[in-house]
Amino acid sequence: MKYTSTRDTTKRVSGAEAIVKGISEDGGLFVPVDFPVLSKNEITKLCDMDYPERAAFVLHKYLDEFSFEELIDFARKAYSRFEDNDACPLAKIDDGLFILELWHGPTSAFKDLALTMLPYLLTASKKKLGNEEKTLILVATSGDTGKAALEGFRDVEGTEIIVFYPESGVSDMQKMQMVTQEGSNVNIVGIKGNFDDAQTAVKKVFTDNKFAENLAQKGIKMSSANSINWGRLAPQIAYYISSYVDLVDSGEIQNGDKINFVVPTGNFGNVLAGYYAYRMGLPIAKLIVASNSNNILSDFFHTGEYNVERKFFKTMSPSMDILVSSNLERLIFELEDRNSDKVKKLFSSLAKNEKYEIDPELLNQTIFESAWADEEETKEAIFNFFDLYDYALDPHTAVAASVYMDYIGETVDETPCIIVSTASPFKFAPDVYNALGVGKVKDTFKAIPLLELATALDAPQALKELKDKPTLHRLIVDSDQVADIVLKIVETKN
Ligand SMILES: *Cc1c(COP(=O)(O)O)cnc(C)c1O
Repeated sequence: MKYTSTRDTTKRVSGAEAIVKGISEDGGLFVPVDFPVLSKNEITKLCDMDYPERAAFVLHKYLDEFSFEELIDFARKAYSRFEDNDACPLAKIDDGLFILELWHGPTSAFKDLALTMLPYLLTASKKKLGNEEKTLILVATSGDTGKAALEGFRDVEGTEIIVFYPESGVSDMQKMQMVTQEGSNVNIVGIKGNFDDAQTAVKKVFTDNKFAENLAQKGIKMSSANSINWGRLAPQIAYYISSYVDLVDSGEIQNGDKINFVVPTGNFGNVLAGYYAYRMGLPIAKLIVASNSNNILSDFFHTGEYNVERKFFKTMSPSMDILVSSNLERLIFELEDRNSDKVKKLFSSLAKNEKYEIDPELLNQTIFESAWADEEETKEAIFNFFDLYDYALDPHTAVAASVYMDYIGETVDETPCIIVSTASPFKFAPDVYNALGVGKVKDTFKAIPLLELATALDAPQALKELKDKPTLHRLIVDSDQVADIVLKIVETKN
């Protein structure tokens, strides 16, 4: 399988190159030249496989320069770091309603599904390319990617990782997870500003050719662990397919029946992986994109206009507090019939005028639906799902649950539905506890035992242990200092 760029379809790179580079030099994102096919027979075959085998099976279709055995080995290692045997269990909470729990990994958020895998893919890709340079991983995080990337890459030979997070835009727990991170190759830097400021600053460094040359002279090459990296996106396709296979295997649906997914969305990585699964042939009727108060995506899906000029809200679901959804570019590329000149134009319009527009008809023909939930509705969803189903949702998943409830109310759609759950409720313990209506608490570490008691669940051990860990990283800078800081870190560490 070869890859091309959303901004230049004459370009061809291998999967290994796409992973090592992270982003194309033309500023575009790497996409497969075509979608591999998943047949009905293969879905049957997948029923007898465990999660690492399923993941390797799906990845092998995209990364055929790796052997199936290699990929199995990576997947086994990556997913052995998850709590249960099953890295992503599917919980049935009602007739035709399921929750795909993607938060049983080391950092209690869905980013682990890809970021436990990426270091293996990256290291092996470098080997295949005969690339002996040190890889500098730059990450901009809205909260969860940072920690998951740090856990994935800590002490991985030949890599140095720098995570930039919006200093006042992540939850207490997310910040604690990052600033206590151990490892010889990890660096964590707070940015004054929001996630978009952090992402824009990091993207600028990435596409600065002079900067890259300067690093190259020191024997260093940059790469990204953000969901713009193909190595992040590809492992995410697997769990859409695997959850469908689970429904077939348990007799909930017949192989070939269509299902819906509702996905809490920020940077459009997670739900895009669902779209790729659909393009491979997975029977999906609707992909429902759920936004929080930063409802730019929901506006886009209704009007075709993507307009960043709007108020930015800090919400209970900080990992979705994003206005510039990078991965949407990959969807636009498909909707515009893979016309990279058009994509280039649209995204230079975004850079210049903070907006772009596509023909809304293109969106009407897709399987996407979109809606959003405000803070009050999110709290109500947490309360209602616990009340109705005895199931505790984190605020991100609650945004999806709220959108799901509205969707069902409006459409009476009886298609079986999977709500994609992206974080453990304990990662956002105070907000979840307060929404349950049994009491009020502000402090994160006081909230954990209270939430355990209220839900009769055990909080992940790694979250409980954070309380006693020392802060190791205190650096905070302006977003225009990102390039300088990267250089400084590189010079001290090299
Ligand atoms: C990252 C994240 C999201 C958003 O996922 P995208 O791939 O950016 O759309 C949603 N919920 C949680 C908990 C996250 O960490």
